[in-house]
Parts: sequence; structure tokens; C-alpha cells
Amino acid sequence: MTATTLTSTTRTAADAARVPLMLSELRLPTIKRLWADLAEQSNREGWPAQRFLGALLEHEMAERETRRLARARADSQLPPGKSLSEFDFAAVSTVSKAHVMALAEADSWIAQGHNLLAFGPPGAGKTHLMAGIGHALIERGHKVLFSRTSELVQRLQAARRDLRLPAELAKLDRFDLLVLDDFSYAKRDQAETSVLFELICERYERKSIAITANAPFSEWDQVFPDKAMTVAAVDRLVHHATILEMNVESYRRRAALPARRQRSAPAAQ
Ligand code: ADP
Ligand code: MG
Repeated sequence: MTATTLTSTTRTAADAARVPLMLSELRLPTIKRLWADLAEQSNREGWPAQRFLGALLEHEMAERETRRLARARADSQLPPGKSLSEFDFAAVSTVSKAHVMALAEADSWIAQGHNLLAFGPPGAGKTHLMAGIGHALIERGHKVLFSRTSELVQRLQAARRDLRLPAELAKLDRFDLLVLDDFSYAKRDQAETSVLFELICERYERKSIAITANAPFSEWDQVFPDKAMTVAAVDRLVHHATILEMNVESYRRRAALPARRQRSAPAAQ
């Protein structure tokens, strides 16, 4: 072995020893896991250096995206399985599939902090539709948080009691879209109403809110006992908003009907 090859072999070994440390320091776990095998393949098959580097970076980016998606889905608390591909648009004649798909695929309304409101009776598919839009937005890189309105109100009230309401509202700011499910479900007292109102004001024209509600606006004085507050809240929510009217019969009930008919039908002779 000549002196030159000896130096080069020693250098290669020294580099190989340093690479994992440097990859840890740079937080590139996928490249750290794959580089040795890929380097061997690359040497064996005589890849140009560009191809080797490109392959490593591609793997790192793909896994980073997978991890990001998994984290965003877990953080969102969206009901799993309620995607737009599972939603039967034919069952809701008042909602256009093209319109919903455009909302799910467009970033501008989210960037501008516009809102989305879905109204309809129980079982109409409001939660499913909003969750489907939420899942689609996560795929596009947005951050979404789904919560029953009453649970979020409890959380905000607890924060107010501990004098950390501004901090709690700021935490919600990292979500581009907040889905408040069953907004009009329960009558609230003054304290509950005021945290909800503060949340709406805080996000107004900055960050989007999506709401599902059984009761239309006319009945919202049940939601906000103070009339002036109802008007102010509705005003902010609808100022830049898309409204989806889902006045259809319960999907659950309709889905149950054929089965019930089948069960009660006389057996074929
Ligand atoms: P709502 O929130 O209006 O009370 P949900 O979204 O909870 O109604 O819908 C009730 C059930 O029916 C859920 O299991 C949901 O997945 C299903 N569902 C409702 N509408 C549809 C639809 N158009 N296509 C598929 N499933 C639907
Ligand atoms: Mg619902």
C-alpha cells in the first residue's frame, strides 16, 4: 500500500467516524440512519456525488414531512376518519362539493383569517364536514385545532381564574384554524360567554374560526345572554365568512332507515 492510499483510507475512516456526530448536531436523523448504507451502494455502483447527496436529502425531507403530518394530526384533536373522501356530498343537497373542495384546497381564506360557519340540525354532517376540511388543511401544511366549544370554554375559564387568559389565547394563536364544534349547544353564563367573546375578538381578521351550530343566528341570544354581545360576536364572525347551510335530515337516521325496513320486511318465499 502506498503512502497516498494509506492517508486517504485513514481520512475516509476519520470522516466516517465524525459523520454521525455531525448529523446529530445538525438534527438530520434520517440521513444519520441511512447514510452508511447509501454511501456503500453509491461507491459500489459508482454514483456521481450529486446523486448520492440528492438521495440523502430527499429521504430526510420525506421523513420530516411524515413526522410533521403525524404531529399536526395528533395536535389537532380532529376526529380521525372523518375525511372529505368519506363524506357523501349527495346527501347534502344544500352544500356544493366544488365549493367545499375549493375551501379545503385554497390557502387565501386561512391566510386572511376568514371564518367558516356550518348550520344544521343534529346528524346533518356538520362535524364530519368541518373535520374533513380540517384534515385537508393539515395536509396542506396548516395548523388546525378541533374542540367542542364547551371544552374550550372550560379551558379558557380556568386560565382566566389563574390570571393566564392572555397566555392561553396566545397559545391558540399557533393554530391557523380553530374548529369550535357545537357552538350553540348549551346556554352559557356570563363568565363563559365573555371568554368566548374575547376569543372571537382576539382572532378577528387574523386567524380563522370554524363553527358548527344547530341554532341559526336568530337564536344566538341563547348563546350570549347579553344582547349587545350577541350582536358584536355575530358581527365579527360573519364579517368575512363562508356559511354552509346544512338543512338536511339526520344522516344517521337516513342510514338506519333501509336497515330497519329490511329487518321488518317479510322474508322472501
Ligand atoms: P352533526 O355534527 O351535524 O350532528 P355528524 O357530522 O356528527 O353530524 O354526523 C353524524 C354521523 O353521520 C357521523 O358518523 C358522520 O360521519 C355521518 N355523516 C353525516 N353526514 C354524512 C355524509 N354526508 N356522508 C357520510 N357520513 C355522514
Ligand atoms: Mg356535531
